[in-house]
Amino acid sequence: QADGLLGPAAIRELAQQLDLRPTKTLGQNFLHDANTIRRIVRTADLRPDDVVLEVGPGLGSLTLGLLPAVAHVTAVEIDPRLAELLPATVAARRSDLAGRLTVVRDDALRIRELPGPPPTALVANLPYNVAVPVLLHLLELLPTLDRALVLVQAEVAERLAAAPGAPAYGVPSVKAAWYGEVRRAGNVGRRVFWPEPNVDSGLVALVRRPPPPGDRLATFAAVDAAFGMRRKGLRAALARWAGSPAAAEQRLRAAGIEPTARGEQLSVTDFARLAATEEVQP
Ligand code: SAM
Repeated sequence: QADGLLGPAAIRELAQQLDLRPTKTLGQNFLHDANTIRRIVRTADLRPDDVVLEVGPGLGSLTLGLLPAVAHVTAVEIDPRLAELLPATVAARRSDLAGRLTVVRDDALRIRELPGPPPTALVANLPYNVAVPVLLHLLELLPTLDRALVLVQAEVAERLAAAPGAPAYGVPSVKAAWYGEVRRAGNVGRRVFWPEPNVDSGLVALVRRPPPPGDRLATFAAVDAAFGMRRKGLRAALARWAGSPAAAEQRLRAAGIEPTARGEQLSVTDFARLAATEEVQP
């Protein structure tokens, strides 16, 4: 590739160099299609002064696509072999952009701070089994992130972007909506990855907006409780959370929510209002 992007031959070569056997537990499926990389970068709507946080750069497929478009990329990679190889890969293919990259060898779920300039956008082909917790952790940790574009399993993309009342609406939808406006931003087939995963993927875009009034942890506790027993009406589902079915009913009514409603019908603002109601003393 003239632009330094990694195609199938380059991915194979880099993997051989490391004697890499991609692991499922770390969600190691690497993009080897330059058109998909270009599409992701285009969809991310980046500005030249953006500082991008990339989680799981792997062999560098997406990193090489991001570097020409932005001021800086901070890449957090858990696998030490991949973290170590990345600067060399970038130097070999785009030495002019190597100064824009910071690689951090760490677990994205455990980072508490990042070196370098504060990131403004998250763009990542996320490891699938931890995609939702990673996304939520980073949005909470880094208030400077005002946008995210992530590639996740298609089913997770649907859940993240679901609106109240939709069949896929659940805990990830409400928690993501705490941080911003979420929408699906396209489908990605399995053939563009090596190794090929056995599910399709989807892009999800989030634009940050101020959270609803209320306390995040209290709201999330109400969300977890409401969806913990999906089949039940909220009066029953929230009984343990509130102390008793009667207390749940009282708090639901105080928040202007029908006790027979189901969690699937409530927006994040409804949950925040519910969590803010006075606890009922037994
Ligand atoms: N960005 C590369 C691409 O598109 O080809 C690789 C994406 S692959 C789906 C996910 C990457 O995340 C792998 O490189 C894996 O080692 C890394 N990873 C897995 N769990 C991680 C975690 N908790 N923190 C940081 N990186 C992680």
